[in-house]
Amino acid sequence: MTLSEMRRWMTEHDLRLTKSLGQNFLHDGNQLRRIVQAAELDPPGPVLEIGPGLGPLTELLLAARCPVMAIEMDQRLVTILRQRFVDHPGLNLIQGDALEVLRNSETDWTGYKVVANLPYSVGSPLLVDMALRPTAPSLIVVTLQLEVAQRIRAKESTPEYGLLSLLLGWRYAAESTFRIPASCFFPPPDVDSACIRLRRRPVPLVEGEQIDRFLQIVRQAFSQRRKMMWKLLRTIWTEETLAPAFAAAGIAREARAEAVGLEQFVVLAHQLPANSSTSIPENNPVIN
Ligand code: SAM
Repeated sequence: MTLSEMRRWMTEHDLRLTKSLGQNFLHDGNQLRRIVQAAELDPPGPVLEIGPGLGPLTELLLAARCPVMAIEMDQRLVTILRQRFVDHPGLNLIQGDALEVLRNSETDWTGYKVVANLPYSVGSPLLVDMALRPTAPSLIVVTLQLEVAQRIRAKESTPEYGLLSLLLGWRYAAESTFRIPASCFFPPPDVDSACIRLRRRPVPLVEGEQIDRFLQIVRQAFSQRRKMMWKLLRTIWTEETLAPAFAAAGIAREARAEAVGLEQFVVLAHQLPANSSTSIPENNPVIN
């Protein structure tokens, strides 16, 4: 879909873009093809696309013979998409807020790949939600703000490292990324973008009830970045319980969470017992 085709659809439908919905449409054919290539769609399989917009990515996914479930919030775009892909048997188009639709869905996503140029305002919570699903998609190839992609890939002791790296890292390995210049979008966004690929780990680093513990530990540890992690976790576990867990994970008592790696948090989640006195929020906090 070229920029002039996009303009034509927008003019015909008198469509004024809504900034709060992150409506920056990707019109650069090379970048669209790179995204599709990164998604490894040969052989074709089911794809979930969030925020199809005018459908530049959708048309390539359908051309790759993938059945596409697409969730678009803006009814005006849904109307256009229905015209563009009229009666296409491969497209299942759903109007709604992807966060809500996914939270209420009972679909088994195990065999799905997520391929999307995400609405930036909901990108991080969507990804964290997906990682937490018992049936998480096998591969996620998404375009996000460059800064968010960097946070997802970050390692300990770097400024970008934090909750987001950990909330996704236990379930997904962050692979390649490539930058997408603002000029490839219409209208160009104020921030740089990047496409990132996340591959579901063959075995999650934490499983069963350890998942809740892992979430509890990392949220508490990053609740005050500048504070020693030991002191923050002492509000939940006793010194006698924490000491052997810290020793097993090789974490110094003086360490701050930002210097503690994913694997070390995993060891803590394996070592520390459940603590019923502290509850874990049901939904993810906004971590944009
Ligand atoms: N995929 C298209 C492209 O590459 O040109 C559009 C991408 S645009 C960055 C994000 C799209 O997500 C917009 O079409 C917007 O209307 C839609 N959107 C925004 N918030 C949404 C939400 N919560 N659920 C579903 N779609 C949403």
